[in-house]
Amino acid sequence: MTRLRLAIVGAGPAGIYAADIILKAERKFDVSIDLFEQLPAPYGLVRYGVAPDHPRIKGIITALREVLDRGDIRLFGNVRFGEDITLDDLKHHYNAVIFATGAVRDAEMALPGIDAVASYGAADFVSWFDGHPDVPREWPLDAASVAVIGNGNVALDVARMLAKHAEDLLPTEIPDNVHAGLAASAVTDVHVFGRRGPAQVKFTPLELRELGELRDVDMVVYDEDFDYDDASKAAIASNKQVMVIDRVLQSWRKRPSVNDGGGEASRRLHLHFYAKPLEILTDDEGRVSGIRWERTRPDGEGGVVGTGEIRELEIQALYRAVGYFGSPLPGVPFDRRHGVIPNHEGQVLRRDSNDRVPGVYATGWIKRGPVGLIGHTKSDAMETVRHIINDQGSWWQPERPDEEAIPALLAERGVEWTDLSGWHRLDEHEISLGAPHERARIKVVPRDEMIRVSRVAAS
Ligand SMILES: Cc1cc2nc3c(=O)[nH]c(=O)nc-3n(C[C@H](O)[C@H](O)[C@H](O)COP(=O)(O)OP(=O)(O)OC[C@H]3O[C@@H](n4cnc5c(N)ncnc54)[C@H](O)[C@@H]3O)c2cc1C
Repeated sequence: MTRLRLAIVGAGPAGIYAADIILKAERKFDVSIDLFEQLPAPYGLVRYGVAPDHPRIKGIITALREVLDRGDIRLFGNVRFGEDITLDDLKHHYNAVIFATGAVRDAEMALPGIDAVASYGAADFVSWFDGHPDVPREWPLDAASVAVIGNGNVALDVARMLAKHAEDLLPTEIPDNVHAGLAASAVTDVHVFGRRGPAQVKFTPLELRELGELRDVDMVVYDEDFDYDDASKAAIASNKQVMVIDRVLQSWRKRPSVNDGGGEASRRLHLHFYAKPLEILTDDEGRVSGIRWERTRPDGEGGVVGTGEIRELEIQALYRAVGYFGSPLPGVPFDRRHGVIPNHEGQVLRRDSNDRVPGVYATGWIKRGPVGLIGHTKSDAMETVRHIINDQGSWWQPERPDEEAIPALLAERGVEWTDLSGWHRLDEHEISLGAPHERARIKVVPRDEMIRVSRVAAS
């Protein structure tokens, strides 16, 4: 029987779902899959993006783990495509490759002052609080007043993690350095800015409601933001999600807060709608000192227009949560404008001609852009896999399809790869670190320590 030797690059949900789907699919050939991941641990943004106090979502790891534990997918962790293994290598050893490399960095934002000291990208902060091995261990949290630009779930994650008291995060898997950093935070006020109104936000009701449950944090909303136009009223009446968001916000209007001289919490989380950031103000040393914004108003069609009214607020740090962006991969077409691999339903296309690149496929965030939940990566993978199956006639014809060739190649290059049993060791190690403290786990952060724990039996 013909055999498909398939390489998948990226062990986030998209890569793992793609492997699972092709293994279970009806097909007339055998499949042998190698999954390459640049980090020593799998699961992508489920481990390094989803916030530590969202254990329900982190639970998706259990489903992904079951796929890997079945034993029919080989995992090569700590192997970076483009450095440790190249497209030419893959052509030499496989019939096809699926890129599932996601998006790990912040989208740019054209705003004067955005490059000031103490102006941060949400993705970097998320990587820090989720214990990503490749970001610095320390995070400066010396600002009392902080602004977060953005009205999606990542903006709410960032605002919540900034406002939440560190001891309330202790039951989660946060690494020790993150707990220590957050415990020393000087923050008193977190201000979230969105250009549009409450009926046009991108965050979801569950994530919003959670903010109101934070201990010793007052929610602050402003009455002027609730003078709805007809388009907003129609959105609230016709869309259940918007209706719930409105209900949650309206309930906060009734709570005592600094707006009416009330509120007793030591921290406040302010939501500013109809606020279009214009400039980040800086002091003589180039540090963030304020944010200047223009008040907007509804344009009657679900959008907004500027009112010309300019406002300012003193802040000492800024986080932009305006979206993630994919990174180019050596030798692989890349759409610089959208930060994705150009493709038609997962079949990769040449950048200049739109012709198909045989043998090369994409799935997940690098295929369709950094929007959508983990569940969406499953339907993505189904579409991509369908094409791989149908494209059998245009697969690569590798010279060395044997499975032994890959470990031999990596060993020859001195790559310290980690495998599935190595990940099990690291997983158990993290769980055992948490056990004495009645915590589900404590994440190991340094890459060399992750590798050392994973490879203990190999050394
Ligand atoms: C802050 C944040 C919070 C989120 N919270 C939720 C939530 O609560 N619920 C929800 O459903 N969704 C959430 N999401 C969305 C969810 O994380 C994504 O839908 C999903 O992770 C996308 O999957 P992916 O596999 O395409 O990408 P990723 O999860 O990013 O996985 C890509 C993998 O590829 C690897 N990789 C990249 N480049 C290379 C290379 N050169 N060589 C080898 N490997 C490489 C990466 O290390 C990574 O492991 C959140 C996203 C973010 C950013």
